[in-house]
Amino acid sequence: MISGSRDRLVHGRLISTWRFNVDAIPARIGLPSLGGLREGSLGCISRLEVHSINGAGTAAVDVIVVGSGPGGATVAKELSSRGKKVLILEWGAGGPVRGTLGQYGRELLAPGRSLLLTTDMLGMVRGITTGGSSLFYYATCFPVPLEMLRSYGVDLADDVAQVWKELPIGPLKDEMMTPMANRLMESAQQLGFHWRRLDKFMDQARWKPEFRFGYYGDPHGVKWSARMYVQEALAQGATLLNGAKVTRVIVENNTATGVELIQNGEHRKIGAPTIVVAAGGIGSPVILRHSGIREAGNEFFFDPLITVCGTMKDVRLRHNEIPMSAGIHLQDEGYIMTDMAIPPATHFAFSAQVGRLTKLFNFRSTARIMVKVKDTLGGRLTDHGGVRKKLSADDHAKLQHGFENAKRILRQAGATDIYKTGYMAAHPGGTVKIGQLVDANLQTAYRNLYVCDCSVIPEAWGLPPVLTLVALGKRLARHLAVQTSSADRREAPARRVAAA
Ligand SMILES: Cc1cc2nc3c(=O)[nH]c(=O)nc-3n(C[C@H](O)[C@H](O)[C@H](O)COP(=O)(O)OP(=O)(O)OC[C@H]3O[C@@H](n4cnc5c(N)ncnc54)[C@H](O)[C@@H]3O)c2cc1C
Repeated sequence: MISGSRDRLVHGRLISTWRFNVDAIPARIGLPSLGGLREGSLGCISRLEVHSINGAGTAAVDVIVVGSGPGGATVAKELSSRGKKVLILEWGAGGPVRGTLGQYGRELLAPGRSLLLTTDMLGMVRGITTGGSSLFYYATCFPVPLEMLRSYGVDLADDVAQVWKELPIGPLKDEMMTPMANRLMESAQQLGFHWRRLDKFMDQARWKPEFRFGYYGDPHGVKWSARMYVQEALAQGATLLNGAKVTRVIVENNTATGVELIQNGEHRKIGAPTIVVAAGGIGSPVILRHSGIREAGNEFFFDPLITVCGTMKDVRLRHNEIPMSAGIHLQDEGYIMTDMAIPPATHFAFSAQVGRLTKLFNFRSTARIMVKVKDTLGGRLTDHGGVRKKLSADDHAKLQHGFENAKRILRQAGATDIYKTGYMAAHPGGTVKIGQLVDANLQTAYRNLYVCDCSVIPEAWGLPPVLTLVALGKRLARHLAVQTSSADRREAPARRVAAA
């Protein structure tokens, strides 16, 4: 499929370009004909763009993975490494990681698509692109609540250990800690908080002092993102269709047999013996609802957060601040606090949002602490993914408690004129919970239909979830590798999905 690759440095960025053999693709995924494929590059990631699928046929795909965030990308990578034929269907685009405001705006802040407003006018963001939200995340690695998951029959200990070996995880080295982050850490410690450097998913050997953090996507490849797993899956023979929005799973005799999708305005069907829906905490329940699992998308969390800002006279932000470089998890109080660097455009938006017009141009002297709480499960999604959820009195109390503590730390650090921004959220989940809508193997009530992303988290959360999701993806892939092999041994007939 990949007939050649070329690496070159453009303005200090490594750009790898793969050339795809157009004719090989239909045979690989068992489709009668595919439209024009073209050479593409995704920064360090290959892109395979399929513009149209004409008709549908007997699928020679072992597994369809819907969505390429941390959950889906891990399953795709792990299964393709075991020789399974994997087709990844991704709603978002897969162009190069440019790290530009434009790309950030299109893929993380598009109203109604990636930026969703809740009942309380809280802004919830999700990445609609290859790699999902991890393209824009802050790369903080939080421990997995192993005991809680074990109580649902999910033991992730071995998988977590495996992820630690495989990915570049660790606290920032001294050169990457900035004066602002150190000042906040010292102040918090002086007040008795066990504030410490946090583990980051960052390849620190690649980091250079002139690099900005990849808020808008990291073209330097320092920040690990799920795109890197997609790249590995492609190199191992998986296929990726971008711009493919899955609308529902096709179910026959209580068994999943394929999916329906829209690509370039056209409705298509593709069949496969196993379907893994990994479209994220909002995307997956919407697909399941349209597939007959009406209970999906209720009683969920989204980990609301505020940013507490103060003006510092004697410490100025550097161009290479790294968000969430240090912080604390106050488990009993139900929230985390971390230093929080943001890009200038976000500072501008935050200050304007809360009417702090005098602070608009105060970017370099603004210190920030993020307070992110474990919210009460509640709310419901609409059939189109509208988020109907209000913060509870308890959530407000936790946010206020965090605000007070963040104020103390900022004051101790010498900050004045302290204020907080509006509510945001970036971790929707718990919409397809383990123990309710999926079993311990992440299988739904339909045979061969699995879910693997933030949706399956069974309880209120409040933590950065990526380590947990990657570990869940590894565990599911192991399970599916066995399942699909035994299906092969039984010579299960390939399922045919009628053309639209
Ligand atoms: C700004 C920001 C900072 C964050 N910082 C951290 C952090 O420091 N640490 C951490 O652990 N977490 C962080 N997170 C959260 C983390 O990125 C997400 O929780 C994680 O990416 C969720 O993974 P997922 O696999 O559940 O889904 P997602 O990453 O949301 O991926 C879902 C994928 O499915 C695709 N999709 C959706 N619907 C469809 C459909 N119908 N058909 C086909 N494809 C579809 C989407 O385009 C997307 O690619 C952050 C998030 C944001 C936005």
